[in-house]
Amino acid sequence: MKIIDAHLHFSNREGLKKTSREISQIDYSAKGLGKEFREGNVVAGVVMNTPGRDPYESFDHSMELALEDGTLDCLLSCVGVNPIELQKGSRELFIIEEELTKIWTTGIKIYAGYFHYYVYDPIYDPIYELAKKYKVPVAIHCGDTQSAQGLLKYSHPLTIDELAVNHPDLNFIICHLGVPWVMDTAELILKNPNVYADVSGLIAGNKEQVLRMKDTRLYVELIQQGLVYANRYDKILFGSDWPLVPIAPYVEFIKDIIPVEYHEDVFFNNALNVFPKMKYIIKSLDEQK
Ligand SMILES: [Zn+2]
Repeated sequence: MKIIDAHLHFSNREGLKKTSREISQIDYSAKGLGKEFREGNVVAGVVMNTPGRDPYESFDHSMELALEDGTLDCLLSCVGVNPIELQKGSRELFIIEEELTKIWTTGIKIYAGYFHYYVYDPIYDPIYELAKKYKVPVAIHCGDTQSAQGLLKYSHPLTIDELAVNHPDLNFIICHLGVPWVMDTAELILKNPNVYADVSGLIAGNKEQVLRMKDTRLYVELIQQGLVYANRYDKILFGSDWPLVPIAPYVEFIKDIIPVEYHEDVFFNNALNVFPKMKYIIKSLDEQK
């Protein structure tokens, strides 16, 4: 089965390098990612760009370079938003729009919780207007924040409800199933036609840790309860959150959680439907063969 990884990271940020050394023990490089894609049968991916403090550091230039020299031409990206820079009225909005015109950009990523604004705060209104203009989905970090400086009231999945109702013509992706608030996320994707969720980042760890969690019944059931309640496997996207975990073991973990009749949708078809440029990537990969 061909797989699309709808949520990974690939940037120069020190935190991600540290995670790959100390937590997931993976080779955090274009070469390492290419190898993991082959091992996991992943044919394409969506990189969630992380915004920096300085708007000129907002974009992941290492990825841009890898894309330009063609080593990772199976990747698309979502442009990360820094609301503090937006509020300052700086060039952030201009930079984000410029990024949206690039061939590899297929969405927008908002880091709720890490930034202390509700997703329906008017500060983000121009971002949603851009999402409509370029017809791209908005992925939103939801649930636990890796940093203790994060504020969970902003990253709780229920905050997406008001946003989804206010913008019925936009698609939203709740990242990480909003873990640990999986049931809240389940209700959101059930109720709102324009809300999707990805299953990335449910674990951070090395191969052994991922396989151990795969056999941790209560944790698996926590995730499954939400999925069974919503029963909307047409709205669930596979993602790994690489470099937080090695990809192939994480694929096995998610395969165990999703009923087999929905694997094609969750691991491939849904990402193809949600990310507008994905079909061109898949088409060009098929033509290369
Ligand atoms: Zn992520």
